[in-house]
Amino acid sequence: MSFAIQALTRSLNVFHLAGSACNNCDIEILDALTPKYDLERFGITLAASIRHADLILLSGIFNKKAAIRARHLYEQAPKPVLVVAVGGCPCTGIIFRGSYNWDGPPGTYIPIDAYIPGCPPKPEAIISAVIKLVQALRRGDLVPACQAEERGVAKPATPGTAEA
Ligand code: SF4
Repeated sequence: MSFAIQALTRSLNVFHLAGSACNNCDIEILDALTPKYDLERFGITLAASIRHADLILLSGIFNKKAAIRARHLYEQAPKPVLVVAVGGCPCTGIIFRGSYNWDGPPGTYIPIDAYIPGCPPKPEAIISAVIKLVQALRRGDLVPACQAEERGVAKPATPGTAEA
């Protein structure tokens, strides 16, 4: 395991990047981070700034303007950074899919490491997915998606350009 992966996966600073949707996924993310599940005992805390993020949790849909800002925020995160799409909105767009201001799933312009379907997914599902992602990285079964993009394996689309 490289030093970067060891440092990245030891105590995650989580940045919550919410697009526009119904907020149920946001509530489940906050539930996972607050005392009932008490992730702080594992060193997992909420980061106030994208510049401190190890893990970005995306929720909601991203319209054309929000997609550009989401990409800018992602670019400001220190690399390597992990990105997880939480809920059906960032995974597929669900009921918002194809609406006039939808910019496609964020996976087309931000490299995403894991998708958690559900509308909304439970906190247990969010925690389980993040743990599985960390374990896969530590075993060497995965590399962070941002590194694939840096190597040109995954080329992002320009956000804000999707056809309605
Ligand atoms: S996935 Fe469902 S619960 Fe989550 S923000 Fe979208 S509509 Fe709301």
